[in-house]
Amino acid sequence: MSYFLRRVDGNIWHGQFSSFPEDLVTHAVSTRLGGHSAKPFDSLNLGLHVGDSEENVLANRRIFMRSLGFRVEDIVTPNQIHGDKIFVVDESHRGRGSQNYSDAIPETDALITNTPSLPLMLCFADCVPIFLIDVENRAIGLAHGGWKGTLNRIAAKTFHAMAENFGTRAEDCLAGIAPSIGACCYEIGESVREACANAFPNNPELIVERDGKKFLDLWSANKVQLLEAGLPEENIDVAGECTCCNANFYFSYRAAGGTTGRIAAVIALKED
Ligand SMILES: [Zn+2]
Repeated sequence: MSYFLRRVDGNIWHGQFSSFPEDLVTHAVSTRLGGHSAKPFDSLNLGLHVGDSEENVLANRRIFMRSLGFRVEDIVTPNQIHGDKIFVVDESHRGRGSQNYSDAIPETDALITNTPSLPLMLCFADCVPIFLIDVENRAIGLAHGGWKGTLNRIAAKTFHAMAENFGTRAEDCLAGIAPSIGACCYEIGESVREACANAFPNNPELIVERDGKKFLDLWSANKVQLLEAGLPEENIDVAGECTCCNANFYFSYRAAGGTTGRIAAVIALKED
């Protein structure tokens, strides 16, 4: 397994994929440790839209971005709505959403860019962070796959947007499916089961049955669509870490029963 956690300053942790070339990108998934927020956002909540104090979230963002060598003022982040819109980010968007939810990139669940030193950030509590890296054309993508985005193939659509905008080829594209709720914990009802069966008619294995209950394997559903898009299997890394099983370490919407903080996935291209 190539996903690992590294402790940096204090109690700040970086979840990273060892398959991502360090000379090309800086990336990390945050944990809930080492921040300022009080319960139920304790403590490194990075989401501005969940009811936490703005002051604490901005302090948390400063701590986490500093640990990566970034400035908060440079981050680009969207208002995520469980859709499948992909936004092409460039220098003109620098800072959008970094300190204010109102100027975030509107209604978008994936960002792509080929601009170096421009950190992209998405927020999560159980939904699947998907990183994409074009190692040949130097471009990156970051997507948010909850069940809706996953069944709408947002990971594959993000790759296709990179292909269209940056000439990304499947064989040059690395993918990382980061910590999120696993099939161990993600119990679903009949309507989601049916939506999955319709979206992935050839992959009944994505629905796992246990003790008369049904669970959705979001990790495999995201991997399957990247394989369909042509990415070689060896290019796709799955962290295999469940945020709900590890809710003392990550924010988990399911484990918290609703109100909780957000971890973030962050990635930026390095200068050539
Ligand atoms: Zn679990």
